[in-house]
Amino acid sequence: MSTTASRGVLVTGASRGIGAATARAFAAVGDRVALHCRTSRDLAERVRGDLPGDGHLVVTGDLADPAAVRGFVDAAVGGLGRVDVLVNNAALYVDAPGARRLDHRVDDVDFEQWQAAWRRTVEVNLLGTADVTYLVARQMMATGGGGSVVNVGSRGAYRGEPDAPAYGATKAGVHAMGQSLALALAPYGIAVTTVAPGFVDTDMAAQALFGERGAAVRAQSPFGRVARPEEVAAAVLWLASPEARWASGAVLDLNGASYLR
Ligand code: NDP
Repeated sequence: MSTTASRGVLVTGASRGIGAATARAFAAVGDRVALHCRTSRDLAERVRGDLPGDGHLVVTGDLADPAAVRGFVDAAVGGLGRVDVLVNNAALYVDAPGARRLDHRVDDVDFEQWQAAWRRTVEVNLLGTADVTYLVARQMMATGGGGSVVNVGSRGAYRGEPDAPAYGATKAGVHAMGQSLALALAPYGIAVTTVAPGFVDTDMAAQALFGERGAAVRAQSPFGRVARPEEVAAAVLWLASPEARWASGAVLDLNGASYLR
């Protein structure tokens, strides 16, 4: 991987939240960023427009659609010349703003709802992430020079997600995928790491951070708050750096001491 200050970086889910903060963090150190989103192109274009430097672009596609994944990975590689860093950040918990929340408690939903929630969550969060990673890793292997993959997992993989067990399971899968690929890709000079954040102040967590429930969520950390997206982005930036090569295989907890394992 190039150690100069102009890497090509693909950040999935960069229209808002942690992904947008991560795009800003990489651009601030001189990297060129392909900002991916599903449908919020306007939002992503706004994030792109505020980034310092040149060569940034927006790419779109639903992670659950393998043809769309191939399309946006190709567009990112074409626009950047080469992807040196992949940040697997996009995921779903709430399907879309205003849509029915994809909660699927085992003691609440019927069998059809259970199946629908599991299938959609696995297709997006796990299979989609695996597909993006395959295509980018193969490009890194073909062009040589190594690279970094940083996955955004979740504390929920360890602490449990009783309202959304499929979400927790997919995040555990992302952690395990990262560890397997760290072994498989090290011979190609590609480091693979994962962050496991607790609650972060984004759209995804908005409902959980509101009202009395929000106070309880903030009290989970002895700091009495949840993370800012920039705090996750800073860790991702470091994990993607040449200095963090030896962290390959790690899953880094970022939860303000709210859950110690
Ligand atoms: P947001 O809901 O704020 O943003 C999600 C991003 O993912 C958007 O850019 C969205 O694109 C994209 N996305 C969602 N569904 C799809 C899909 N089917 N195909 C392609 N892109 C999609 O999320 P956060 O910033 O909160 O979360 C980012 C990551 O951090 C996720 O992996 C999440 O699981 C993880 N995380 C978040 C925590 C939190 O408390 N917020 C805690 C722990 C982990 P679009 O705007 O077009 O819909």
